[in-house]
Amino acid sequence: MLKFSFLNKVFLAIFVVFSLLRAFKIAPFYFLFFPLISYVGFLVWGSAEITLNFYFDSIHRLKSKQHVLLTFDDGPHPVFTRQILDLLDDYDVKSIFFVMGNQAKEHAGLLKEMVRRGHLIGNHSYHHSTMFDLFPLRRMKYEIEKTNQVIEKITGQKPVYFRPPFGITNPRLARVLKQTGMISVGWSFRSFDGGKRSNEKIMSQLTKKISGGEIVLFHDNRARTVELLKTALPFLSQRFELNNNNLNKEIRHV
Ligand SMILES: [Zn+2]
Repeated sequence: MLKFSFLNKVFLAIFVVFSLLRAFKIAPFYFLFFPLISYVGFLVWGSAEITLNFYFDSIHRLKSKQHVLLTFDDGPHPVFTRQILDLLDDYDVKSIFFVMGNQAKEHAGLLKEMVRRGHLIGNHSYHHSTMFDLFPLRRMKYEIEKTNQVIEKITGQKPVYFRPPFGITNPRLARVLKQTGMISVGWSFRSFDGGKRSNEKIMSQLTKKISGGEIVLFHDNRARTVELLKTALPFLSQRFELNNNNLNKEIRHV
């Protein structure tokens, strides 16, 4: 798998070779443009694609092919989260909710409901700011620690799982996760329940691509996710165990 540290070594080697060629006047200056553009391209790709484990490892799949783990981001939402909790109960599903700290503080009752019904609560930053990835290390750490404090105060449980906002990663986040001891969780199937795809299209992808072991990304702050789950849950619950039992043992770094 492509890693940030490996990429740096490769490009450093390219730069050294290029410098030697320049020293002997063998290569023109513009020869460096292609490696530089490629390097920036790899950085953008590695930052945007959490499944690459570019800066640090995230958990994207389960060991067990019999299990599928449903995850919900960006809540809790005062209306849709409760509807989703009821639907999950109907199919005896236990999942993880990656909550935003400010929303959690506002809807503390929903967090207690999640725990009471057997779900896990993960950290999804305090504000889910679009600037999160540009924050300096201290502010990033503050966002994560403040969210942990809110969750712990409400539920009595300190979260161990973190999902980066927008799934975007960078070297500062790698350091913050190390310092806070949090485990990053990505996904192997993205439902795109926040996009323009129709529910029929999403269901057709879901039925084709989920074969066991997937971590599925949904959002619990959207009305359409409720509708989507009404079709997805009967399909998935017939084929897989949808729980978060022994999560630490089930999950593996990919
Ligand atoms: Zn999010």
